[in-house]
Amino acid sequence: MARCPICGKPTEQPYRPFCSERCKKIDLNRWLSGVYKIPAAATPPDEDEKSSD
Ligand SMILES: [Zn+2]
Repeated sequence: MARCPICGKPTEQPYRPFCSERCKKIDLNRWLSGVYKIPAAATPPDEDEKSSD
């Protein structure tokens, strides 16, 4: 029996893998806030191989 990753209650079919709409939203918010916390540190690819003399 799968359990809701948010509150630990058994999952309900329409809300899988959660137990309710509420937990579904909580998880979504966690996910979104996690995404927004990531700093936009886009490291450019190394183009050292291109160096030709
Ligand atoms: Zn839950």
